[in-house]
Amino acid sequence: MTRPDGGAGTTTPWDVVVVGSGGAGMSAAITAADAGASVLVVTKSALGASNTGRAQGGIQAAVGPEDTPDTHFRDTFAAGHDRGEPSLVRRLTEDGPGAIRWLAGLGVPFTEDDGELRIIRCGGASRPRLLQAGERTGAEMVKALRAGVRARIISIMETTRVVGFEPAADGWLVRTDDPEHREIQTRTLLLAAGGGLRGEADRLGVGSTNHPDATPEVLETAVALGAEAVHLDSWQRHPTGSVWPEALAGYALPETTRSYGATLLDRDGNRFVDELAPRDVVANAIIETVAAGQGVTAPNGRDAVWLDTTAIDRVNGSGFTAERLAYVTNRYRKAGVDITREKVMVFPVLHYRNGGLRIDDHARTTLSGLFAAGEIAGGVHGTNRLMGNSLLDTVVFGRVAGQAAAETAINQRRTM
Ligand SMILES: Cc1cc2nc3c(=O)[nH]c(=O)nc-3n(C[C@H](O)[C@H](O)[C@H](O)COP(=O)(O)OP(=O)(O)OC[C@H]3O[C@@H](n4cnc5c(N)ncnc54)[C@H](O)[C@@H]3O)c2cc1C
Repeated sequence: MTRPDGGAGTTTPWDVVVVGSGGAGMSAAITAADAGASVLVVTKSALGASNTGRAQGGIQAAVGPEDTPDTHFRDTFAAGHDRGEPSLVRRLTEDGPGAIRWLAGLGVPFTEDDGELRIIRCGGASRPRLLQAGERTGAEMVKALRAGVRARIISIMETTRVVGFEPAADGWLVRTDDPEHREIQTRTLLLAAGGGLRGEADRLGVGSTNHPDATPEVLETAVALGAEAVHLDSWQRHPTGSVWPEALAGYALPETTRSYGATLLDRDGNRFVDELAPRDVVANAIIETVAAGQGVTAPNGRDAVWLDTTAIDRVNGSGFTAERLAYVTNRYRKAGVDITREKVMVFPVLHYRNGGLRIDDHARTTLSGLFAAGEIAGGVHGTNRLMGNSLLDTVVFGRVAGQAAAETAINQRRTM
């Protein structure tokens, strides 16, 4: 770490301390630094280690010829059961195309076919809207954002856990587990520590797609301090968590397998749901099918239904799966399964916290000087998130939060 003191002396506070370095934290840090703020990122593991880096499917934004931000708004709002905050959903969808341009400018290599962006349709979307950077969009985003952070004057405390924070005279006091920097002063505090569903899954003893760092202590501290929250207990399951082989437990087959034509089948080989319905509809249909005795039992004794990945090449031609889903294909091949020849067993797993800290259009929480962005914040997705909207959320609201926190801190600095 450099400049642990805010840049000018041991008692000088930082303008902005960002907690977490996923898509939201790094987008916020870059934006705050570009706005002229002194910025410190505190993050639990290496810079960029996060759920963001695990995202495979892609990122939604209304950039297609048949699409508009308004259509994206309507799809997002409806999928969230009309419980999203309209102004936040509007912001997400209207800023979507700009967020993609910003990411491309940072170096995210969005995939093109014949010189045009590849845009595919995913569950709950009425138009093709999902952009991809190869098959590991989140990893490509992390790579570009990390380079963007490192290219700026942004200080970083890696392998450091935030263990508490509280309001202080001129902002916030942040406590960490770093013995040399147990207390850090900042004018504004920006929480981008994710939704923490791995921690929730571990408490319940159930499976989760989440990174081991995804624990909810930062969210819980904010709530304990009195920050308002919305739909905190609304959790999303990923419909197609891998059940077998055992080596792939916790791995979720990306939504794009269904976009490309994989079908869900019960034990008799019958389809039982529209595979491109919103996630909660698909996950619930799988759970109900199993509960009705129409599922299958994996060799490890766990319940499942079939995801017929062999349908993808039947629909699109031989070789399509190997080309478009090379990462998934290889992961299964290493575990002894050829997904172009065999169906796979899946069951929903805990994946995403739909709700979180209440924020306004400037990503301000209800506590003064405390900002939140990404999965730790609520209101954008109502009570059900559309696939691909979370990566977009991290960039749109990460940038909003970074800008607003920087402006607040700089104004405060000038008036002192
Ligand atoms: C397997 C998987 C696949 C996904 N696929 C997609 C997809 O295709 N498209 C899509 O839109 N979304 C997808 N998602 C969801 C999306 O990736 C996440 O919701 C989003 O990236 C969250 O970003 P974030 O920046 O808010 O939080 P995260 O990326 O979770 O980052 C949180 C950061 O906070 C840090 N942190 C946590 N606690 C502390 C602490 N106490 N002190 C210091 N640091 C802390 C963590 O180490 C991490 O760096 C997927 C998620 C998973 C798990």
